[in-house]
Order: sequence, then structure tokens, then C-alpha cells
Amino acid sequence: MKLTDTERFFEECANIEYEKDVDLSLRSSFRIGGKAKYGVWPKSESAFCAVIDYLTEEKIKFTVLGNGTNVLFSDEGYDGVVVFTTSLKKIRCSRNTIYAEAGAAFNNLAAFARNSGLSGLEFAYGIPGTVGGAVYMNAGAYDGEVSKILQKSAYFDPVLSKRGELYNRSHEFGYRESAYMKNGCVILSASFELVPGDVDEINTKMEGFLAARREKQPLEYPSAGSAFKRYPGYFTAKLIDEAGLKGLTVGGAQVSLKHAGFIINKGGATSSDVKTLIKRIQDVIFEKNGIRIEREVRYID
Ligand SMILES: Cc1cc2nc3c(=O)[nH]c(=O)nc-3n(C[C@H](O)[C@H](O)[C@H](O)COP(=O)(O)OP(=O)(O)OC[C@H]3O[C@@H](n4cnc5c(N)ncnc54)[C@H](O)[C@@H]3O)c2cc1C
Repeated sequence: MKLTDTERFFEECANIEYEKDVDLSLRSSFRIGGKAKYGVWPKSESAFCAVIDYLTEEKIKFTVLGNGTNVLFSDEGYDGVVVFTTSLKKIRCSRNTIYAEAGAAFNNLAAFARNSGLSGLEFAYGIPGTVGGAVYMNAGAYDGEVSKILQKSAYFDPVLSKRGELYNRSHEFGYRESAYMKNGCVILSASFELVPGDVDEINTKMEGFLAARREKQPLEYPSAGSAFKRYPGYFTAKLIDEAGLKGLTVGGAQVSLKHAGFIINKGGATSSDVKTLIKRIQDVIFEKNGIRIEREVRYID
């Protein structure tokens, strides 16, 4: 079989794995999406940078993905390369600071912090993404948010072909927003500044958060978590509930009966089912409340 130039690069690049025609429905928590031309899994930071550098230089369309828990892939698939960070999962601790590579599971980071007697990451327990995805999204829950504990992140800038670091304030964090949404850089790792705490107390708090999630969220169905951002001064799920939209269904996509902020895949939902449902919800809320609620889930076409 004749290899394309891209495949030859992947073959020759040390410390990566790649696959052709990757089924994106199996790689995203929504369980929706066609195939990507290639999926690449770098196993070291330098391999990650080399892959991004190559794709940028060759003007090949790419996107970086963590655990795929906040994305909606198109049914048509992705005509490019998806670079998965999930093989970059080192975590280490130095005094009160925990360093993690971009692909480390946010859950594992929370457990690592607890086991190290460090408090501040309890909120992360139950958020099913990676460290890179959490920094990118400024993930948060209950009393915590990435912006409150992030010391710095390391990134690769594909345009300048250069590695760099951003300290907390330079992340321009907002509600589910970070500078990475605008600057196009790829997150390599992050360091979190925590405080010493009692392991049992930390554990109790984490288990409490997890129990609350199990009780309130439709975890038995594929979803991308909350489909919408909070609108200043409102709880979006409450607005959707009050508008009588719980259970609203388009094809296989439904507004969860358990939690109105979640759109779930009841089975066989397509990306257009989800997009149509999201638009319908936004329109109804606009008509009723005069505000346009913003989508949190990211469309990757
Ligand atoms: C059941 C459920 C519950 C959830 N609960 C919460 C919650 O309580 N709080 C919350 O904030 N979120 C929640 N989420 C949403 C989601 O888990 C978070 O947004 C998480 O941070 C996304 O991480 P990820 O690795 O899955 O990112 P992905 O979905 O893989 O990617 C999300 C975005 O980040 C970008 N990205 C990922 N990694 C990198 C990187 N290394 N460099 C540059 N860009 C990158 C991607 O291109 C994409 O645009 C929930 C989701 C589900 C399914």
C-alpha cells in the first residue's frame, strides 16, 4: 500500500500512534460523529509539538481533543487530523503545586491531589475531561473553577512554532472561557497551586460532589454535560425547565427530563438533531425571556 506524505510523516515520527478513518462517535461522550481522516496520539510533549508543527506547516486541517466531553462532531466526520492528548497523562507533585500533562484525566488529577493531602481540586471530581480541556474551557463546578487554582499553563504556538508559558492572569478567564479559544495555541500541560488539607475531609467533599452529580445528572445517557453556558443572573437549566422544554425531542436528541440543562442522546441522535434542538431552545428562551443563551458545547466540523 502506498503511503501518503502525511502517513509517512506519522510513520517516521517517534513517539506517536496514528489510525486512519477514526470513528469519532466512539471518541466523544455524545456518541455522535462520522469519521476523521486520521487520529494521532502523541506520547511525549516533543512529539505533540512536532505533529502540530508539521500539520501547520503543511496547512493540514487539524483539531486537538482531550476526552471529547464538550464537543459535537458532525455526522459528515472531520476532513482532517484529530490530535488526541490522552496518551500525555503524567502527573507529579512538588510541595503544593501539581503539574499535569494536557491529557491527564481531570478526575485522576483530583484523586492525585487528595492522595497528596492537597485541597482545591475537589470540584474537578466527576468532570469527565482532561487537564487540557479543563484549562481551555475554564471548567468548574460547585465552589471551584480552573481559574481559581491554575498557576500556569505551557503551550505550543503553531504560528510561531514556539513553546511558551502563560501565567494565570494572562488566561483572560471568563465563564467557560479562556485565552486559548482565541489564540489558537495548543495546551501542553498545566500547574495548579493548591493548599494543604485533611485527606478525609477532601475525600468527603469529593464523594459528596459525585453523589450530587449522580442524583441530578442523566449520567446514564451520552451527552456533553450542560449544553448551554450560564447567562449572567440566570440559571439556564431553570429557564429551560420553566419554559416547559424538558423532554423536547428532535430525532434521537432530547432535553433531559432529569436535568433541563443537559441534551442527551437517547439513541441514534445525529449532529443535526442536536443542533436543531439547541437552536429551538435558544429561540424559545429568547421569545420568553428576551435573552439569547449561549451554547457551551463546541461544534467541530
Ligand atoms: C456528564 C458530563 C458532566 C460534565 N460536567 C461538567 C462540569 O461540572 N463542569 C464543567 O465545566 N464541564 C463539565 N462537563 C463538560 C466537559 O467535561 C468539560 O468542559 C471538560 O473540561 C472538557 O474536557 P475534554 O478533555 O473532554 O475536552 P474536549 O471535549 O476534548 O475539548 C473541548 C475543547 O477544548 C479544546 N482542547 C482540548 N484539549 C486541548 C488542548 N490540549 N489544547 C488546546 N485545546 C484543547 C478542544 O479543541 C475543544 O474545543 C461535563 C461533561 C459531561 C459529559
